[in-house]
Amino acid sequence: MKKGKKLYEGKAKIIYATSDKNLVIQYFKDDATAFNNQKKSTIEGKGVLNNRISEHILSNLSQIGIKNHLVKRLNMREQVIKLVEIIPIEFIVRNVASGSITKRLGIEDGTVLKEPLVEYCFKNDELGDPLVAEEHIYTFDWASKKELEKIKKMILRINDFMIGMFRGIGIKLIDFKLEFGRIKINGKNEIILADEISPDTCRLWDSITDKKLDKDRFRKDLGDLIPAYTEVAKRLGILHEQSNISAVNVTKLSSIKRKRK
Ligand code: 5GP
Repeated sequence: MKKGKKLYEGKAKIIYATSDKNLVIQYFKDDATAFNNQKKSTIEGKGVLNNRISEHILSNLSQIGIKNHLVKRLNMREQVIKLVEIIPIEFIVRNVASGSITKRLGIEDGTVLKEPLVEYCFKNDELGDPLVAEEHIYTFDWASKKELEKIKKMILRINDFMIGMFRGIGIKLIDFKLEFGRIKINGKNEIILADEISPDTCRLWDSITDKKLDKDRFRKDLGDLIPAYTEVAKRLGILHEQSNISAVNVTKLSSIKRKRK
């Protein structure tokens, strides 16, 4: 498959065309942004880890019947994905209150919610991804009622699966963000899971210590982001337990391999 021209560059990823009009390449950058782009940095190795972690989670979701855009991982930083028409909503799933909800509603950080809470944010950087109601989604035709009902069912299934998967490796799934897209499969319109699921898009706390193993390490200047993401990857069984290869070394190794080819 041939890599074509750049179609889109986002904050953490780049999308390239391919020789197949239905497939694109998703490249994971090392860039980190927070607070609507006000805070920016480059963290070497982050893209490599997110590529691996997202591949792992999306492949597992596929096995339990959650259709998603992942076709295959190509290399350390790239994966082939299905081209979808993204629904312009960020679906935020919360099991424990943290982040924006604590400020918006004055809820204490760490409050366990009695059931998962799904929030909708309109994907618009200029407006700072504002929270919207279900009625806004219908009024502005961002998604139909039928589509939203399907998405809500998928979200709860994804949440159940991910809570269990992370619980098994000593991690609490506090909250996360999902995106969905439209695609035609055998002439039929379908909704599939898109984007990435990684420590960039989830809040993950160690079950015993509550240590943050996610992008809050960057947002809150806690440092040690790469060791935290590496820890998540190791516990998921993606990196060998005894391996001391840091993501930075992984990046260097991959470029050495490329040069040798
Ligand atoms: P909050 O609304 O508390 O800022 O975020 C809730 C959850 O959704 C967090 O896990 C956060 O990482 C994720 N999230 C929300 N918006 C974005 C976004 O624009 N980009 C990324 N990477 N994650 C987001």
